[in-house]
Parts: sequence; structure tokens; C-alpha cells
Amino acid sequence: MAEHESLEFGKADFVLLDSVSLEEFMANLKLRFEKGRIYTYIGEVVVSVNPYRAMNIYGRDTIEQYKGRELYERPPHLFAIADAAYKAMKRRNKDTCIVISGESGAGKTEASKYIMQYIAAITNPGQRAEVERVKNMLLKSNCVLEAFGNAKTNRNDNSSRFGKYMDINFDFKGDPIGGHINNYLLEKSRVIFQQEGERRGSESLLRSLHVSKDPTAYSYIKVGGQVKSSINDGADFKAVADAMKVIGFTPDEIQTVYKVLATILHLGNLTFGVDGDTTLIENSKVVAVIGVLLATKEENVEKALLYRTVATGRDVIDKQHTTQEASYGRDALAKAMYERMFCWIVGRINDVIEVKNYDAKVHGKNTVIGVLDIYGFEIFQNNSFEQFCINYCNEKLQQLFIQLVLRQEQEEYQREGIPWKHIDYFNNQIIVDLVELQHKGIFSVLDEACMNVGKVTDEVFLQGLNSKLAKHAHYTSRKLSPTDKSLEFDRDFRIRHYAGDYCMAPLFAIKSLCSNPVLKMMWPEGKLSITEVTKRPLTAATLFKNSMIALVENLACKEPYYVRCIKPNDVKSPLLFEHERCRHQVEYLGLLENVRVRRAGFANRQDYPRFLQRYKMISEFTWPNHDLPSDKEAVKRLVQGCGFEHDVAYGKTKVFVRTPRTLFCLEEQRDEMV
Ligand code: ADP
Ligand code: MG
Repeated sequence: MAEHESLEFGKADFVLLDSVSLEEFMANLKLRFEKGRIYTYIGEVVVSVNPYRAMNIYGRDTIEQYKGRELYERPPHLFAIADAAYKAMKRRNKDTCIVISGESGAGKTEASKYIMQYIAAITNPGQRAEVERVKNMLLKSNCVLEAFGNAKTNRNDNSSRFGKYMDINFDFKGDPIGGHINNYLLEKSRVIFQQEGERRGSESLLRSLHVSKDPTAYSYIKVGGQVKSSINDGADFKAVADAMKVIGFTPDEIQTVYKVLATILHLGNLTFGVDGDTTLIENSKVVAVIGVLLATKEENVEKALLYRTVATGRDVIDKQHTTQEASYGRDALAKAMYERMFCWIVGRINDVIEVKNYDAKVHGKNTVIGVLDIYGFEIFQNNSFEQFCINYCNEKLQQLFIQLVLRQEQEEYQREGIPWKHIDYFNNQIIVDLVELQHKGIFSVLDEACMNVGKVTDEVFLQGLNSKLAKHAHYTSRKLSPTDKSLEFDRDFRIRHYAGDYCMAPLFAIKSLCSNPVLKMMWPEGKLSITEVTKRPLTAATLFKNSMIALVENLACKEPYYVRCIKPNDVKSPLLFEHERCRHQVEYLGLLENVRVRRAGFANRQDYPRFLQRYKMISEFTWPNHDLPSDKEAVKRLVQGCGFEHDVAYGKTKVFVRTPRTLFCLEEQRDEMV
């Protein structure tokens, strides 16, 4: 339990709710948000509600308050979780990870930054120069990824998301010595590019890129609604440029990145028309600018945008796009360019931050804290392929969560010599299998449907699903259950399988654009031969599935800590707690299930000295000091005196308290005494 706070602020741990119901959970969440208490625990999980205002709770003094403390000693905070992960790593030599999930705008990235800052602040007390250098690199790399991980490139405001996993490696002293970043599904849902790179950026730079100072001149930027303004544009731009320099990007590379970004903006302004049978680009000036930026001929740009390469038998021919196809291709190209550039930046950062010269034989085990910043469950009326991937990922993470929390509990009980009692919970393995099983899972069916080049339709895919999954308890469709009112349309359970096309088209377009050497590095496959034109690449679904399986395997061998972020409203208001919106998130983040799992075991455990320290004033045997042979005996005496024997178990080093009510009574009695 967290430090006992006045009830005025609600319960600091949802485990302490009088009963586990959605209503009570929501009431507590709302009360705490309104009182400015944005963090609340579920055992060792932090639930965070985006405050949408600057909170004075991340400074040096706060860091000092949390450093080396136990969770329940201080009010709930990200720092407590970061410290717990750090302690587990340092004291017990465990690899740990902090999983931060929630929807876009819920505060994940901010949380991951505060966690990194905390870790940076509490490590390297000896001020070793090499460690300081690594810390600086890690923080700077975050700044660069932030700047680029959030740009806007697509007309579709809600297209794809970005998940980031960052490992921080520590030496035996507990000081950072390097790291590694993995990125998943790029997030392109925000309009931030102009914040970083444009308006007050550098006027001469903008001129050289042929970029206007007015962000509303770009349709990719305008689409998102209002253009975001930030007082810090100039400073942010400089910070990113400096960070890139520090990390070791060459001036050429930085220039190329700007060129790619500028190209993407210009691409967004292209419009297509027809003249007789010919599709054409209406704004030839823009084409010229793109040609200059990419150091290629205008006609190459036109060709890339107006034609696609198709393989017919042994021949490869160029087939003209319709205007609609051309628009789609343009957006796909912008998106692919962005993705490639981003992956390339991540790769360059990894080269720099990777652990070097570390010999475990000499220096002891190299331990890791992983920080995962990933999009949470999302349920819309109409769920696209992207939502499907995100939700699949979250099913996997939820499954991991349940397994790991239970395993963590079990291991601690074993360490402490307390008998383990089976806990009943919903195991979602069956849903995970439904998605990823070889030959029978949804991904397999999707891949198979995509094999029918040219004939991939929703119907083919749905037939596949219906025939393979008819008996699956968690699968249904309109055809299988015609009376189910929630399946409104014939094609419900529908997933758009544009994955195949969407990967291919832009790559062919790009091959003719590559002439800049840095750009070439972003597209290492270079020119494609005829066999490669006909060979099907792995579908986006398969690539994503594989990356998720690898991610989950990686997390599974670590001790996990969780931060669950909630977005209280859609208007960035610090005052508004939209009940329905929040309830939805609480449900899909599985928070009530978390509370149940936590409450099924022991709600709280504290080592004997700390427990005594906190409650010794309650008992005459322990106040002000005890003369019993051990702290453990003293705690037993204290608990007996309060009549809580039945609710407590005594481990080797810790006392375990089963129900929150007991803790609550202890806290009340303590309050009466102090
Ligand atoms: P996500 O990564 O989940 O999409 P962000 O972390 O980028 O969301 O947060 C979105 C915005 O919400 C931030 O730009 C910031 O304005 C605000 N915000 C998030 N967390 C906090 C916080 N702890 N304190 C103050 N503002 C916050
Ligand atoms: Mg984010």
C-alpha cells in the first residue's frame, strides 16, 4: 500500500477498494484525478491519468524522496516504479522491464521520459565520464525519436502507431553502459513535424528545402485539423538538430533527413488529373522541387507516381495508374519514405548506443531494464487491420501480464516459504492462438488469402476464416451467427488486407528515385530484379506477428513493471474527466482484472523492520522499542494484539497481509496514535 493519504484524495491503491466493481473503480479514479493525484496503484502497477497540465512532481527533490524507497512508503508515482525496477535489477541481478501502455495521447511517452530521467538521475554517483556519455546519448536519442516518431505523413489521420522498446544495459555497479531500441508500427497520427522542422526552424534551411514557413501550405499538415502551435518551435528544432549532431549523424545525413521530410510534405500537395486516357500530375512545380530534393530527374518522379511495375509472365511492364490509384500511391510512398527514414534513424542510433567493450567475465553480469512504450487496446465501430494488430499485441501483453504477475507472486511466496494457492483467472491464450496459430490462425488465413494475387477480396478472406474457424469459441461472423445483432454487416469480422499491396507499390516507386547516397542507405535492397517483382514479400501481417512474438519472448524473461495510461478527455483539458471515455479505457486495459488478481493473493507485503517502523506505535509490546528476539517475533506480537492473525502470513523476511481492509485498520490505528 502507498503511504497513507487522506481519504480526501481517494484510495492510493485500487486494491484497497471496498469492493471490486467498475463503479467504485471509476469513482476513485475520478476523485483522484480531480484532486490532482494522477497516479494510483494496483499493487505494483501504476495507473496514470494524463493531467494535461504541468505538474510540479518530477523535480530533483521528488527524485530524492523516491530514491531507494519502497512502493508503499510514498504516494504513488512513476519514480517508485522506476526505482522498484532498478532495485530488482541491482539487488537481485534481474533483468526487468517497464511496460507502458495506453492510447495515443494518454501520456505514455511522457511517462517513459520521466522514467528515463529518474534512472539517469539516480545512477552514476561516481560521475564516471564514460557513463555520463552513455546517459547523455540515451536521453538525446529519445529526443530524436520523439521528434521523428510523431510526424504526420498521411492523409489518414488515424493510420498507424508507433511502439518503442528500449533496453538500457547496466554494468555490475548499476550504471548505464548502453542500450538498444526496437520500433514497431510507426505512429503517424500527430501533426508535429512542422513543430520541429518548420516554422521558426532556420529560414535559410527552409529556403533550401523549398519549404514554406507557413505550415498551412501543406495538406498533410492541414488534414489533422488545426495546426498545432508551440511557443518552443525554434528551441525544439535546435534541440533535435543538436541531439542528432551529438549522436553522431553527419551533416550530410541530417541534410538528407530534412530532404526526405520536405519531400514528404511536397508529396502531400500533389494532385492528379486526367487528359484523355492519360493520368497526369497537376502541379508540375512541386514535381520539380521533389526532383531537386531527391537529386533525381523530374520524369523519374512522375514515373514513380503515375506508373506501377507489373510482372506478366516473363516481362515487366509499366502500367498507368488511375487518378485514384495515383493518390493512393502518393500517400503510400510518403508513408513508406517516412517509415524507411525512421527505421534508418533508429538503426544509426543503435550503432551509437550499443554496449561496447563490455566483458561479462571481467565486469560481472550486464543487466537490463527495458522500457516499452506501446499503444493500448483500441475498439472502434469499424476496426481496421491496424487495430487488429494493435489489439493482438495487447492480447499477448495481457497474457504475459497475467502469467508474469502470477509467476512473480509464486516466486516470492517460494522465497519466503509461504504456501502457494492456485488463483483462478481468465486465460486468454485461446484468443492469442486464434490469431497466430500456424495454418489455422487469422494471420495464416490472411496470408493465404493474399496469395491469390489480383483476386484478394474481403470475401475470399472471410470464406477462409469461416471454414477454418467455424468451431472456434472466440470467432464468429455474420454467416456463422446470422441472428447476432452486433454483426451488422455481411462482412463483419472484417479485416482489410491491403497489407500486400501497401508494401509493394512504394518500393517499386522508390527504386527509381534513389540517387542520393544517404537515401540509398535507407533502401538497401536497391533495384529489384524481375524475379523479385514476382516474388511475394512477407506480408505486413506476418512481419508484425513475428516482431510481436520476438517482443513478447524478450519481455517474458524479464521481471515486469507496468504503467497503464488513461486519457481523460479528447480536448486536452486538465479539468475534464469524461466518464464514458475513461470507463472504456479501464475496461480495455483490463484494470479490474488486475485488481482481482492482486486481491486474490496477498494485498501487501513488507519486510519486518519496515512494518515495525510503521506500526510499532499501535502496540505496547513494540512501542517505542521491543525486547523480543527478532523483528519477526515483534511483528507477530503486534498483529496478534490487533486480532489480525487470520489474515496474515509470516515469510522469512516479510509479513504478508491478505486483505486491504486489515491494512486499512492498521493505518487507522496508526493515525489515531500519531
Ligand atoms: P502518448 O505517448 O501516450 O501518445 P504523450 O506522452 O505524448 O502521449 O502525451 C501527450 C500530451 O499530454 C503531452 O504532450 C503533454 O502535453 C500531456 N502530458 C502527458 N503526460 C503528462 C504529464 N505527466 N504531465 C503533464 N502533461 C502530460
Ligand atoms: Mg507516444
